[in-house]
Amino acid sequence: MSSPVWHPFTQHGLKEPIPLVERAEGALLYCADGSTLIDGISSWWVTTHGHCHPRIAAAIAEQAGRLDQLIFAAHTHEPAETVARELVDLAPEGLTRVFFSDSGSTSVEVALKMALGYWHRRGEPRHRILVLEHGYHGDTIGAMSVGERGVFNRRYEPLLFDVGTIPFPAEGREQATLDALERACTAPDKPAAFIAEPLVLGAGGMLVYSAAVLTEMAAICRRHDVLWIADEVMTGWGRTGTLFAVEQAGVAPDILCVAKGLTGGALPLAATLASEPIFQAHWSNDRADMFYHSSSYTANPIACAAAKANTQIWREEDVLGRIGALARDIGDHLETLSAHPAFSNPRQLGTIAAVDLKTGDTGYLSDIAPALRAFFLERQLLLRPLGNILYVMPPYCTTNEQLDRLFGAIAEAGDRFGTARR
Ligand SMILES: *Cc1c(COP(=O)(O)O)cnc(C)c1O
Repeated sequence: MSSPVWHPFTQHGLKEPIPLVERAEGALLYCADGSTLIDGISSWWVTTHGHCHPRIAAAIAEQAGRLDQLIFAAHTHEPAETVARELVDLAPEGLTRVFFSDSGSTSVEVALKMALGYWHRRGEPRHRILVLEHGYHGDTIGAMSVGERGVFNRRYEPLLFDVGTIPFPAEGREQATLDALERACTAPDKPAAFIAEPLVLGAGGMLVYSAAVLTEMAAICRRHDVLWIADEVMTGWGRTGTLFAVEQAGVAPDILCVAKGLTGGALPLAATLASEPIFQAHWSNDRADMFYHSSSYTANPIACAAAKANTQIWREEDVLGRIGALARDIGDHLETLSAHPAFSNPRQLGTIAAVDLKTGDTGYLSDIAPALRAFFLERQLLLRPLGNILYVMPPYCTTNEQLDRLFGAIAEAGDRFGTARR
């Protein structure tokens, strides 16, 4: 009998192979058919230090035998308390409150509700949200509403709320972005918040923009009293070369979303960090004013224990040193690849590198993507192009030999699929 599993972002009608993975270690996935895949995309951008990190696995096992789950409304536990304090300590200054949830999408929903709640309680309700063109913030209705519209969400479009879109600050066109943000912030329909992924737009195509623009965008929001939400779901936990990407712009958001690498990538956990004024706006002796949001597994103790182990690794080990070394190796490989005539627009930020494959067939639905996936799978590599955009985002333990194989196969894919050679 065929499997009853309905996979995400998978067109079952294409009958693509679906590898059965039995175990993982470091950057490797071991499959039931005896093959071993190099995880070139950190299992969808979540695995930071490497799969089955011994310290995180031990913390999970220990916590599972002590306290597995707890209602988090008006109850608490040590792993959540510790992780919350660690987050406040590690995050940019001014983020003093931590609201837990269970996925990046939920952390964004929470951020939007916090922002709206803030303005409501201030007695000047605002509902307009500004977003960055090509942004991605998750797949729930609210998160889709603030993300790029396209084939992913066209069916649901009538349910998505209206937003103000600020053009992406592509190199050379930064001023247009800043002008548009300034105009939107001063429009009669005052925005409640501006949400953006700092420095690199992930699902939008690994689009990189400068820290200087981010600094300016944050300043514009501050100047016009519009809350700024930084979605660090992908960029957090060292991905861009610093613990959080906003550090490179020297700015602190009013609200910060973290998820993916929060547990080192071992368990689902998310957090929305808020500034003190946002928390205080919800503080009163009237129950009608409390923050109405929860999910059953909010701050699950086992997930929090994994996150606590992750923050300990960050404190006690030279993670940034490892990331720096990996980023240098990736940079060397990318430089070689840049000379390949089938690729354009090479870009890198920390441990993320991407190129565009020159092909007549672009866009997320281009037939090239499944063909490329199959091509890489045959070579025992997990790479998942975004349309014609090829990228690597490996775990921090990835060796130079493993990078050789990833980038070697990308070059080979250029020979095979690129139009420049034909
Ligand atoms: C992945 C991602 C999300 C959604 O996170 P999920 O855990 O998949 O819900 C939100 N924002 C950004 C920037 C992401 O990359």
